[in-house]
Amino acid sequence: MDIQFLGTGAGQPSKARNVSSLALKLLDEINEVWLFDCGEGTQNRILETTIRPRKVSKIFITHLHGDHIFGLPGFLSSRAFQANEEQTDLDIYGPQGIKSFVLTSLRVSGSRLPYRIHFHEFDHNSLGKILETDKFTVYAEELDHTIFCVGYRVMQKDLEGTLDAEKLKAAGVPFGPLFGKIKNGQDVVLEDGTEIKAADYISAPRPGKIITILGDTRKTNVSVRLAVNADVLVHESTYGKGDEKIARNHGHSTNMQAAQVAAEAGVKRLLLNHISARFLSKDISQLKKDAASVFENVHVVKDLEEVEL
Ligand SMILES: [Zn+2]
Repeated sequence: MDIQFLGTGAGQPSKARNVSSLALKLLDEINEVWLFDCGEGTQNRILETTIRPRKVSKIFITHLHGDHIFGLPGFLSSRAFQANEEQTDLDIYGPQGIKSFVLTSLRVSGSRLPYRIHFHEFDHNSLGKILETDKFTVYAEELDHTIFCVGYRVMQKDLEGTLDAEKLKAAGVPFGPLFGKIKNGQDVVLEDGTEIKAADYISAPRPGKIITILGDTRKTNVSVRLAVNADVLVHESTYGKGDEKIARNHGHSTNMQAAQVAAEAGVKRLLLNHISARFLSKDISQLKKDAASVFENVHVVKDLEEVEL
C-alpha cells in the first residue's frame, strides 16, 4: 500500500507543483487505486506514473473548489480511451453538486463514457461511514473551510494471522487437509497422539492501516478525530508559521497547526501538502523544521513522490 502524490500545490499550478490530487495505491490489497481529489492536469501527472487509469475504481472529492475537481472531466473521458481494456465502473464520492458538475461537463462537451459512474453525494447531514467493503471502511467528516469540505479516514480491516507452514512441517504435521483445519483455527490430534494447538501455528492478526486524508481546513477538532492513531495523516499546509491569522481568514492551516493536529491525534507520521507557490525551496525546509518542533515525524511532499505505508 502506498500513497503517490499527483499534485501538491495550493490554488493554482506552478512549475513544480500541480493542483490537488493523490492516489492511494491498494494494488496488493485489492488491485485498485483510489484517487483523492482531481485537480486540473491530474491525468497528465498520472502519465508520469505507473498508475493505469482503469485501475482507478473510486474517486473521493473533499470539496468543490476548482483546484480539487477541474481535472475530473478530462480524467474520466481519457479513462474511456484505453483500447482493448475492460471498461470497469467507477464510484465517485463527494459533496452534493459533484454529480451535476461531472454530468454537465460530460454532456455539454458531448462526451460519452463506455463505463458507468456511481455517484455517492453527501451533505452536512449524511456524513459518517460512507463506504464499507470486506477490506476497508471509509469515514467522512465535515472540516472547517470556506465551503463545505470533508476529510476522509480510511481504515483497513485487521489482517488475519498467517499459518506458519514450516513450523507445522517441523512438528510432523503431514501437508494436506490438516493444514486447512489448523488454518481455520481448529486444534487437531495427529495419529501418534500429538496434540497440535492451532494458536501456536498462526501469527496474531495484524492491525489494518489507518490513513487520514484531509481537504482544505482551518484547525479544527474534527481533524484530530479523523486522524486519531492514524499511520499517516495528509494535512494541508497552505501557510507557514506566524501566518495563523491570514490562514484563518482564508479557511486554511499553517504547518504549525497541522503539526498540532498530528500531535494531538497521536499519528505515526505527518505529510504536509497543499503548498503555496510562494514557498521557495529554502522556505520548504523551514516549513518542515518549524513543524518538526511540534511533531517530529513530518515531511513536506513533492509531486509524484511515493510514500510507502
Ligand atoms: Zn479549497
